[in-house]
Amino acid sequence: PASAGRYVYDLAEGSAGMRELLGGKGAGVAEMTRLGLPVPDGFTVTTAACVAAMTNDHRWPGGLWDEIVTHLEALERRTGRRLGAADRPLLVSVRSGAVRSMPGMMDTILDLGITDESVEALAAESGDPRFAWDAYRRFVQMYGEVVEGVPARAFEDALTALKDRRGLRWDNELTADDLRELVTTFREEARRATGHDLPTDPHEQLRRAVDAVFGSWDSPRARVYRELNDIPDDLGTAVNVMQMVFGNRGDTSATGVCFTRNPATGARERYGEFLLDAQGEDVVAGIRTPRPLPEMEKLLPAAYAQLMDTMDLLEHHYKDMQDIEFTVEDGTLYLLQVRTGKRTAAAALKVARDLVAEGEIDKETALRRIDPAQLDQLLHPTIDPAWSGTPLTHGLNASPGAAVGTLVFDADTAAQRGQAGEAVVLVRWETTPDDIHGIAGAQGVLTAHGGMTSHAAVVARGMGKPCVAGAGELGIDADARTLSVGGTVLTEADTVTLDGTTGSVYAGALPLVPPQVTDDFATVLGWADDVRRLGVRANADTGPDAARARELGAEGVGLCRTEHMFMATDRLPVVRRMILADTAAERQAALDELLPMQQADFEEIFTAMTGLPVAVRLIDPPLHEFLPDLVEQSLLVQRLETDGAPGELDRARALLARVLRLSEKNPMLGTRGVRLSLLYPEIGVMQTRAIVRAALAVRGRGLDPRVEIMVPLVAFAEELRRMREIVVATADEELAAVGVPGLPYAVGTMIEVPRAALTAGEIAEHADFFSFGTNDLTQTAIGVSRDDAEGSFLGRYLETGIVPADPFASLDADGVGELVRIGAERGLRARPELETGVCGEHGGDPASITVFDGIGLDYVSCSPYRVPIARLAAAQARL
Ligand code: ADP
Ligand code: MG
Ligand code: MG
Repeated sequence: PASAGRYVYDLAEGSAGMRELLGGKGAGVAEMTRLGLPVPDGFTVTTAACVAAMTNDHRWPGGLWDEIVTHLEALERRTGRRLGAADRPLLVSVRSGAVRSMPGMMDTILDLGITDESVEALAAESGDPRFAWDAYRRFVQMYGEVVEGVPARAFEDALTALKDRRGLRWDNELTADDLRELVTTFREEARRATGHDLPTDPHEQLRRAVDAVFGSWDSPRARVYRELNDIPDDLGTAVNVMQMVFGNRGDTSATGVCFTRNPATGARERYGEFLLDAQGEDVVAGIRTPRPLPEMEKLLPAAYAQLMDTMDLLEHHYKDMQDIEFTVEDGTLYLLQVRTGKRTAAAALKVARDLVAEGEIDKETALRRIDPAQLDQLLHPTIDPAWSGTPLTHGLNASPGAAVGTLVFDADTAAQRGQAGEAVVLVRWETTPDDIHGIAGAQGVLTAHGGMTSHAAVVARGMGKPCVAGAGELGIDADARTLSVGGTVLTEADTVTLDGTTGSVYAGALPLVPPQVTDDFATVLGWADDVRRLGVRANADTGPDAARARELGAEGVGLCRTEHMFMATDRLPVVRRMILADTAAERQAALDELLPMQQADFEEIFTAMTGLPVAVRLIDPPLHEFLPDLVEQSLLVQRLETDGAPGELDRARALLARVLRLSEKNPMLGTRGVRLSLLYPEIGVMQTRAIVRAALAVRGRGLDPRVEIMVPLVAFAEELRRMREIVVATADEELAAVGVPGLPYAVGTMIEVPRAALTAGEIAEHADFFSFGTNDLTQTAIGVSRDDAEGSFLGRYLETGIVPADPFASLDADGVGELVRIGAERGLRARPELETGVCGEHGGDPASITVFDGIGLDYVSCSPYRVPIARLAAAQARL
């Protein structure tokens, strides 16, 4: 926080290091000023001022306005211009700028200082009344929307009405007189909407504009963005007041956005867009579709050359890809913003690798910069290259990857249906920042309007959602909820496939193929492997899963859930026969049938993971999970009582009785895990035989199976002692039968109830390894059912901040993490060679991985597609 009484800094006083205070934008323009680049003059009101106002019922800290006036007067002296003056008027922009970039989420007001007097001065000075009146109508529009809350629609409709009356297509075809008329109309619209006249004193406007920018920190879309991006709510925004430069002064002027590298692919090329004769917002808002940057070379050669040099300079200065806003006023280049460019995961990897190769940064820096969660983007399917067909239409390839979904025409519906688990594609004429929740809920985004740097594109790239933007042939009728192109009309009932990598749009659901590991990906993850200490395994229940996991870098299987195999349709009847058996002989017959099936599964997994450990967990879920649902079975009996054949009814009744007997009030805390295996030892015996036979078969083929047998839900050392006895006796019997000397195998346990963690010392006497089952450990430590909590109180807890994060997604370090620490410590004290790992969702969560690394566990295990994420997160935990 600033020292009291210092809430405003001139741009010339700031620097990149003052980001916390000046916000990212303020620190960026200050740094560019320091570097001697052409940046319009101005000053920054600090984030501390915003926070002070927010925490004091929107009352500004004492002296803030006086400080702003002092800095404004100094700016007026430096520029030789005055706000609102009838001669040499000063116009300023009032720009939001948070510490962490939130592109387009907060408000900015341009052209402040234009009044009935100064508009004439501006017209005379520039010799271009059209330009002056355009600035005026833009100001009334932005000020009305942002400060006075006038609905954007009111202004848009008035503008469209005027263009229609004049028979014009583009805003910039309007004459000075048209625009003068529009200023009057806009003012009337504002009066109609607010009930009062807009203030005309520019100082009053400035005060209110600063206040509105403070307030925009709390706008709904800014809140949603912060929630999606884990940005704290109490940082506040800075406000930058800068002299206006004008990109809308005819064809020697322009405004644009550029990246020092391609943010979609990471390729080292000039990338960007610009519009001639336009002002700031026009490019990002997608009002006119902008031109690709290279075309600027011919039109504005001097400014272009200077921009190219500046891009090089800024990238080298920050040693990372930069995203730059610029404006050319009558041939002269000005820089308005610089920030680290948001990029796709593919681009992040390529840029990191290239910057290391170019000697700009070292590998550790490169690793630190990549967001592990973002890698997820690369692990999504793309359209099968073998498929061929004709696209419905094309747009810009704004964010890569394939998305398949039903058409949705508004953001609210996309958010709702997306959250309900439906695959939808959001279609909009153009998107505004208010659509962010809809983009989050959709598989992908399709727009008819806007360029590569439109809000839709930027937001979609940040979220890793495929996006095709500016598909100009599309006719979209949001009210009728139809999309038409050529002769084809699609409705809400139709599905489309977007290819964000090429910009093609297809009708229907196309076949997708799994993602491929690219060279950049492999290289950067190789660096991560050199740095990390934690091992990374995968949770895999089938051979193909295990093979996939291994391709993605898994160093073994940390959890193979044997019962998942029981659920297969050809096995479920046998499993049911096993459960429902009346006699030991009947049960054994069913188990004998299951054994070869399980053995075949294990053979596949051991083969895929040859040379690497595979932890197979013995049966875990309560038996009723394999039987029909109690309510459904009761209904079936009821129905058969009226119209069923007698034999059928008897069978249904018998099954119902069995379901009733096995059903429990709290199945999660019921007869499951080792409890089940101790009640029905023959199941564990069968599974052990299947495991050992599979390992022998695989070894017979010259491979190297590494077997770990894992006992779930142990709470008492005695449970594990007895179960281990059963497993060892069975395994030894199998080995003796074939006369094979010492197939090594380990027997260990899951630690997933608090008692097990606390008595880990005793348990370790019977365990070769511990695997912390943090899903169940979270349920049992907090005393909350994972299956019910999210829909009920836990959701509210998250919203109201009682808990900082979902404990099932990100480890509760203080509670559950402490149990893991205690368990590992006590276990290792009793048995120093004990191997320790984690399976469960947390094994793939970067924040949790940092905690596990700190505790000193040997490995984490996660779903195959999270393995790369875990590898990188484990490396970052060491940096
Ligand atoms: P955002 O954070 O949404 O990008 P900005 O504060 O960057 O908002 O402003 C929106 C647009 O207005 C940008 O295109 C920016 O370049 C332009 N702009 C801001 N200040 C000025 C200025 N002083 N002169 C000309 N254009 C400006
Ligand atoms: Mg900007
Ligand atoms: Mg469990």
